[in-house]
Amino acid sequence: MTATVLVVEDEKKIRDLVRGMLEREGLTVVSTGSGAEAIDLAGRIHPDLVVLDLGLPDVPGEEVAREVRRLAETPILMLTAKVTEADRIRGLELGADDYLTKPFSPRELVLRVQAVLRRGRAPAAAGGPASFGGGQLVIDDERHQATVRGAVVELTPTEWGILVALAGVPGRVYSRFELINRVRGYEFEGYERTIDSHVKNLRRKVERDPAAPAIVETVLGAGYRLGLTRDG
Ligand code: CA
Repeated sequence: MTATVLVVEDEKKIRDLVRGMLEREGLTVVSTGSGAEAIDLAGRIHPDLVVLDLGLPDVPGEEVAREVRRLAETPILMLTAKVTEADRIRGLELGADDYLTKPFSPRELVLRVQAVLRRGRAPAAAGGPASFGGGQLVIDDERHQATVRGAVVELTPTEWGILVALAGVPGRVYSRFELINRVRGYEFEGYERTIDSHVKNLRRKVERDPAAPAIVETVLGAGYRLGLTRDG
């Protein structure tokens, strides 16, 4: 199956460059320079990934991201001229799965796209769903589905990756650096704080009280761990 990537970038030169690079990787590419058209396209073609420029002339990239997220948990790779870490974190809070600052190298873009797509399609593990904390949390790798207290939660690929990584060995502490590598499969510019943003979003979805997390626990100065034990 070929993955479809929606490329949203108003600068034609960059748009064509990105399209060419991704097509060479065997991906199907649909591109547009308009945020409004991007929202419309996302609803019709159901892309596997959206490469989104934050600075669009008609609709702000942030709004496009929100709309795309409202439709589906489609992974988003943001392109931006903004460089501060605060901007990165804001983008990640908006649900971006990864960030690329302009100017970026073609190779870097291809690696990021491949990593995000890989995360979205983690290979199914054998053995059926794994249950934790007396059934409070059930992770079904085959269906790519997490159930918390009986309800299915919609997670982004990055949130899913963090949860699955922590559930690998419940109680074991995973450092931010380790989580970045496990989730992304490569070093992510050392921005370890970006993991915190994803954990914050993840907690909003899985914790009864995100201010007093019982599932994704913080271990001060060390990282995160799953606060539940595995059942059975
Ligand atoms: Ca732009």
